[in-house]
Amino acid sequence: MKSAKSKQHLTLLVLRDAQHAVKQIHISKPLLIAVPTAAILCLSGLIVSMQVHSSQVISKMEHEITSKTIANLQMELTVNNREEAILRLKNEIVNLSSEADDMKSKMQRVSELEDELQKFIKKHDISMLPESTEVHTDPLSLDASSHVGGEFIAVHQSEVLDLTQETKDDFELMRKLLDTMENHIPNTLEKAKETQEMISGTPDAWPTVSKVLTSSFGYRTDPFTGKAAFHAGIDIGGQTGDPIYAAGAGQVLSAEESGARGLYIVIQHPEGLQTSYMHMSHLKVSPGDLVSKGEIIGEMGSTGRSTGAHLHFQVIKQDEVVNPLPYID
Ligand SMILES: [Zn+2]
Repeated sequence: MKSAKSKQHLTLLVLRDAQHAVKQIHISKPLLIAVPTAAILCLSGLIVSMQVHSSQVISKMEHEITSKTIANLQMELTVNNREEAILRLKNEIVNLSSEADDMKSKMQRVSELEDELQKFIKKHDISMLPESTEVHTDPLSLDASSHVGGEFIAVHQSEVLDLTQETKDDFELMRKLLDTMENHIPNTLEKAKETQEMISGTPDAWPTVSKVLTSSFGYRTDPFTGKAAFHAGIDIGGQTGDPIYAAGAGQVLSAEESGARGLYIVIQHPEGLQTSYMHMSHLKVSPGDLVSKGEIIGEMGSTGRSTGAHLHFQVIKQDEVVNPLPYID
């Protein structure tokens, strides 16, 4: 290794064991340098490529993990939304159910009122009501439980919510309608009863404002003679000018002045009944007039055989005087 040539080469002696010959390997200097350099380069390349690869793998894994996490989150979010939607639906259904109950009781009430009205109309056969109210409909049955619930998730949630809202709107409309009906039916019934009452010929209305009975029907001591005498009616004390009402609907038979009776009126009612009103200060009807029950026919006074302002009221049944009190009491 002292020659110029030898400076260019290195000789490696490979000594194995006794059976093998010694091997000589001549390696040029540049090669000696090149091999480890190449090896280092190669190794570093490998490391770099490994790093790149692993970073790619890691990145890919990271990406996968991220997307899985997002998917999980989305799934959780969907589950949450769904649970929320189910909760909302449940609440809506509970509300609807209670509204349905409310509606059922209202319908029941309206149905009862309608029945009452129908019975009244049938009983009295009044054709004063519009035909539409006479149409008897079958009671509506509402059972919200048979319309809601079930596999509602199978339907798109928003559709169910829309349906729920629509149902709520329908309920609101129905409730308003029922409220109107509930308010109107009793009024109609009341008016029908009033009309029926007014046209009723039975003389059962108290004939004036005062309720002070000054003399009853039957035998009494006559206020003028002091002797026992028959009193054919009742006397109701009051003020001159107090209104006198027809005790029942009918036709005026007499409206005139006559000695002991003073200014008096006789009204003919159905079933052979007549009522007489005596000692009035003023007459407001004439013979032949048709009067309704409660109509003012005159004013209280003290005309005729009278000791003070009062109404002598009597009832005649089949041409016989009877006690008026059972009629008007
Ligand atoms: Zn009298």
